[in-house]
Amino acid sequence: MSYPADYHTHTRFSCDSDAAMEATCRAALQLGMREIAITDHVDFEPLDACRGYFRPELYWEEIEHCREIFGQLTIRAGVECGEPHLYRAQVTPLLAAHAYDVVLGSLHWAGSRPVFRADFFDGLTLDEGIDLYFDHLGRLAAEGEYDVLGHADYVRRAAARCFGLRELDLRPHEDRVRRALRTVAERGKGVEVNTSYRRKGGGEPGPSVQMLRWFREEGGEIVTIGSDSHAPGDVGADFARALAMVRAAGFERLATFARRQLKGWVSLDQVQG
Ligand SMILES: [Zn+2]
Ligand SMILES: [Zn+2]
Repeated sequence: MSYPADYHTHTRFSCDSDAAMEATCRAALQLGMREIAITDHVDFEPLDACRGYFRPELYWEEIEHCREIFGQLTIRAGVECGEPHLYRAQVTPLLAAHAYDVVLGSLHWAGSRPVFRADFFDGLTLDEGIDLYFDHLGRLAAEGEYDVLGHADYVRRAAARCFGLRELDLRPHEDRVRRALRTVAERGKGVEVNTSYRRKGGGEPGPSVQMLRWFREEGGEIVTIGSDSHAPGDVGADFARALAMVRAAGFERLATFARRQLKGWVSLDQVQG
């Protein structure tokens, strides 16, 4: 039995983290993890604080260094690309320049609306905001360069901050949500279960079991788990809960990646939690 791989972690190569990559890898090993993906922010959205912050050459030096000193840990090189469908001209050469293992595609902005803040809903009802979010997510899913969709129900973060909601019933939006998930499945891409909502006061990991089930019903097979840690102490956080949700949605295994290809599967029977 091993601890499931954390496929969403940030280090000091992200503008909003000062975590040393070495400390992040050490934290993974201490939990009994055998594999981790370091997925620092890559953003081109002019309004985003992380825009232009990522330095691939320095990141790669550190990846190579950590791979040398942590031989017992498989370290996957990754990035979390914000709105990759809008910045193809910048994202494509960045990804081509190095042998990345996994790319998370995340929607942090719906136009000029920040999905991570309460003002996302300015002038919108809850339902209008949710529809707007999933319209943008559908476009990212269809047109973006990514392997796994990051925190696919991130609108919950804004809903928690604006309306104090810890859960969202997406049934009124089911067609829109399913359409986005079907696109992910048809393109052979995956969805992550992100545990950071819990640490940020937003309730359960996301997406919800309801949404994970829809993903499976729409043909989705690829699921990963990520803490979205910005500090070493959060690596692998709340993975038992995330695993329970993956199981409840009917999945039996987690996906692993290498060089942006599906590398293999880890049965849920083989992991702790
Ligand atoms: Zn994100
Ligand atoms: Zn992240």
